[in-house]
Amino acid sequence: MELFYRSTRSNSETVRASQAILKGLADDGGLYVPESVPRLERSLADLSQMTYQETAYEVMKLFLTDFTETELKDCINKAYDNKFDTEVIAPLVEAEGTYYLELFHGATIAFKDMALSILPHLLITSAKKNHVENEIVILTATSGDTGKAALAGFADVKGTRIIVFYPKNGVSPIQEKQMVTQKGDNTFVVGITGNFDDAQTGVKMLFGDKALADTMAQAGFQFSSANSINIGRLVPQVVYYVYSYAQLLKEGKIENGEKINVVVPTGNFGNILAAYFAKNMGVPIAKLICASNENKVLYDFFETGIYDKNREFVLTSSPSMDILISSNLERLIYLTAGADAEKNAAFMKDLSTTGKYEITAEMRAEMKDFYGNYASEQETADTIRSLYEKTGYVIDTHTAVAAAVLNKYKKETGDETKTVLASTASPFKFTRSVMNAIDAKYDAMGDFELVDELSRLANISVPRAIEEIRTAPVLHDTVCDREEMKAVVMKFLGI
Ligand SMILES: *Cc1c(COP(=O)(O)O)cnc(C)c1O
Repeated sequence: MELFYRSTRSNSETVRASQAILKGLADDGGLYVPESVPRLERSLADLSQMTYQETAYEVMKLFLTDFTETELKDCINKAYDNKFDTEVIAPLVEAEGTYYLELFHGATIAFKDMALSILPHLLITSAKKNHVENEIVILTATSGDTGKAALAGFADVKGTRIIVFYPKNGVSPIQEKQMVTQKGDNTFVVGITGNFDDAQTGVKMLFGDKALADTMAQAGFQFSSANSINIGRLVPQVVYYVYSYAQLLKEGKIENGEKINVVVPTGNFGNILAAYFAKNMGVPIAKLICASNENKVLYDFFETGIYDKNREFVLTSSPSMDILISSNLERLIYLTAGADAEKNAAFMKDLSTTGKYEITAEMRAEMKDFYGNYASEQETADTIRSLYEKTGYVIDTHTAVAAAVLNKYKKETGDETKTVLASTASPFKFTRSVMNAIDAKYDAMGDFELVDELSRLANISVPRAIEEIRTAPVLHDTVCDREEMKAVVMKFLGI
């Protein structure tokens, strides 16, 4: 049976999965949601015998019902291959009784790879299915992580080009090096003399530029976005929650049907929403623990029912979670409002005009399986050090936020349910913060010296992604002002 998608802001239009992927955002500004969350067809015992790729097929086919078996398997096999440094793709590591689900074994050693390695293939397959002849041009503004993961995903994918704008002085040296050394004839990386907001605003203006769209169409191009609100990013993220439960079952760590908790370091609410979908598909998940850093909008929201972005923005050591508007939360709002688009649209209007909204008591009751808390910078660092000292296992700052919140949750509730913790980045991606947390003496060392020291401490080899950038030549050196972005795009496309 075909599964259709609707916008969270109006109930009129339904689209197929491939159309939702192509469009990204609905015309009314809403996010696409499936009309219902499909139930798993195979038992968890069956799934426990499957590879990551097989599991991906079993899960994704239920959401992307207009893809043929061949199309979907082709996308999956192109994505989850030896770009990952382990055959199991997403390994589970047990430390202090918690199961760390390592989502950082892909090309850019952060969890964005889990979805961005398959999105390009889903996108070009969707284009073909909908008779789109144009070449797809991905336009992205990045504050660091997403840009590199998108570049790695789209590099050399036929029928696509990718242009990434980043704030020239607003990303870490390693993040910049990762981007400007990107290979692939279809990739283009540009530094903006300004901050992330300038880059983001510039990109939004290009997306809305009708004259540019016409010129591009005449030359056979159209824009698309690799943004985390695309269902082509959400659906692949459901897979690893199903897979991790099945693996625990296979290894005899849990009984069939035993409930587990899941804890996720959260920014845009995409990753934890995927866990919520997995739960609704039939994976026995009890609590969904939402971990924030000092930008604790979500913690306050789960505490009070009020979402309020009017507050100071804090720069933390877990930058990928430094977010005040968690875009994917809109899907949960819509669903817990009883799939009421009108009600959701009113909340979103409040958010854009006053910066806040308050949900109803019934909606809060619908969210009872969510628990929110946050970790301060000190708690995050303490968690990294203490876990390392007790077990030798080294985690990154984002993962540590989740680990710290899990400790708080257990203390508060006494709940000792077995827990999967989404480990979203390799410690090598945030080496300086991680090493400083372990011992302040490391602050004096250079970036790559620290990398080698971490490798020695943690007893793991330096990931390929880091090894490569040590010596890789700079291939992108364009820098421009916000006003020049359009000209730069046109030059790259030769129009
Ligand atoms: C993006 C990101 C997150 C936050 O994930 P959301 O889906 O935005 O909630 C957490 N950790 C890392 C390392 C990330 O890159």
